Amino acid sequence: MSKNSTDKESKVQYCSFCDRTGIVKNPHYLHMGTDPLTPCPKCVLTRCSCGGEEPYFIYSDGMIKDCYCRDTRMRIAKIAKIYRLSGVDKKYQWRFLGDFESISKLASDAKSAAYDIVKNYPKVKKGLFLWGNPGTGKTLLASIILTELIIHHAVEGKFIKISRTFFNRLRATFVEGSDTYGESARIEQELSDVDVLVIDDFGVQRDSPWEQETLYNLVDARYEAEKFTIFTSNNNPVKALQELSQGRVLSRIKEMSRIMELSGEDYRNKM
Ligand SMILES: [Zn+2]
Ligand SMILES: [Zn+2]
Repeated sequence: MSKNSTDKESKVQYCSFCDRTGIVKNPHYLHMGTDPLTPCPKCVLTRCSCGGEEPYFIYSDGMIKDCYCRDTRMRIAKIAKIYRLSGVDKKYQWRFLGDFESISKLASDAKSAAYDIVKNYPKVKKGLFLWGNPGTGKTLLASIILTELIIHHAVEGKFIKISRTFFNRLRATFVEGSDTYGESARIEQELSDVDVLVIDDFGVQRDSPWEQETLYNLVDARYEAEKFTIFTSNNNPVKALQELSQGRVLSRIKEMSRIMELSGEDYRNKM
C-alpha cells in the first residue's frame, strides 16, 4: 500500500450518525430549496474550514491544501448528477430505507433483503423480483434501494417503468425525423450496461411481439453481463412467465433475482 492511500484512509473517519458514508439527508431541502444531501454535521462539517466554498481548498502552513470536507463534497456532487439522470419518479425521490414502513411480515422480509443488498453491494449475487397486488409499496421499495445504492456506492443506476410511454419512446427511435431517430441501439445498450437497473411494472407484454422481445432481450443482456437488476410486477412470475419461450425468461429471472412477494393491504392508504 502506498503512503498516499494510507494517509487518505487515516484522514477520513466517518461516524455512525451518517452510517459511515459522511453524507446525510438534508431535512430542510424540500421547503428551503437546498441540496437534498449534505456532508455529515457530526464527522465532516465539524472539521471543515473552507466554508463550503468550491473548490474546497484551505490555506495552511503557506500551502494550499484540500479541506477535510473536499472528498465528501465531490462525492455528493457526483451522486447528485447520477441521481438527476436516474429517472426515479419524483414522488419517490430521496426516500430511504428508514422511510419504508413494514406493515406486514412480507414487507418486513423484503425490507431486510433490501438492507442486505445496500450493505453488501457489489458483493450481492442476486437482485430482487418484487411482486404483489398494486399499492403494496413495491415501486417505493425498489426506488429506495436504487437511491441507497447510489448514495452508498456512487454507482450508476437507472429506473425505467415499463409502460406504453416507454415503448412509444423506444418506437420513436425508428421514426425518421423524430428527435431520437436512430438511437435505439444506444438506449438499449445503456440499459443493458448500467450497473443497477430497476424495471418497474415488468409484465407480460401481450400487445406486440416486438415489445415482448425488446423486454426479454434486455433481461437476457443483463443476465449475461451479471448486472444487478430489480424488478417489480403485479404478477407472480412463476405463474405468469412459465409459458414464455419454453420458460427461458423465467429461469433467467430466477437465477438473477430473489423472488419475493409483497402483497397485502394498500400501502398508499397508510402513508
Ligand atoms: Zn458522520
Ligand atoms: Zn471544507
